[in-house]
Amino acid sequence: MGNIADSIKAIRSTLTEGVELVAVSKFHPAEAIMEAYGAGQRVFGESRATELRDKVRALPADIAWHFIGHLQTNKVRMIAPIVSMIHSIDSERLLTTVDTEARRIGRSIDILLQLHVAQEDTKTGFSPEELDTLAASGIFGTLGGVRVRGVMGMASNTDDKDRITADFRAIRASFDRLAAGPFAGRQTFDTVSMGMSHDYQIAIAHGATMVRIGTTIFGDREY
Ligand SMILES: *Cc1c(COP(=O)(O)O)cnc(C)c1O
Repeated sequence: MGNIADSIKAIRSTLTEGVELVAVSKFHPAEAIMEAYGAGQRVFGESRATELRDKVRALPADIAWHFIGHLQTNKVRMIAPIVSMIHSIDSERLLTTVDTEARRIGRSIDILLQLHVAQEDTKTGFSPEELDTLAASGIFGTLGGVRVRGVMGMASNTDDKDRITADFRAIRASFDRLAAGPFAGRQTFDTVSMGMSHDYQIAIAHGATMVRIGTTIFGDREY
């Protein structure tokens, strides 16, 4: 394992001003997170509900936890009180489930709408067209428990830079369309979460405001 604090600092020095770093700590232990915390990192990303819950209990209260993995509706209740942002709202059903639960517990939860633009079928999310249709239905005006902050997406898992660039452009274009249409005038619709260890620099060049980086900070994950 490399030095986590040094990796955090090295990545920070390459980030454009205004781009937020989510340190993806899934599958890494509390000690690794505390090393990043010691370097000033306060935003961490997790992809499993139970793992998130256990880490919240064990780690400092001023950490902002972002949920970035596929979220099953039956796990919403577990994470709703403790999560500060959910990146992976990938269906209308999940959106309304989170909204209902947030209202029930008297919270407002920041969420991102997950876009599917990559080649792989394994990735979940809305197509840009589906998101436009959902927005046109007026649903976003009815949500009292969630605050829609923007979109999240992943590029195709490939070495083909043109393909990766096209994917990030499509995600950013979808955000821009929503920002100019259904979310016009909402200052808090401001987040484009895209870019991981191997492609975050391309993502930033094409309009990411938030990057999610795991391996470059913490090393390889042991699943
Ligand atoms: C695991 C994960 C990441 C981090 O990936 P790295 O390649 O380790 O940087 C980012 N986003 C999502 C959605 C993930 O599941």
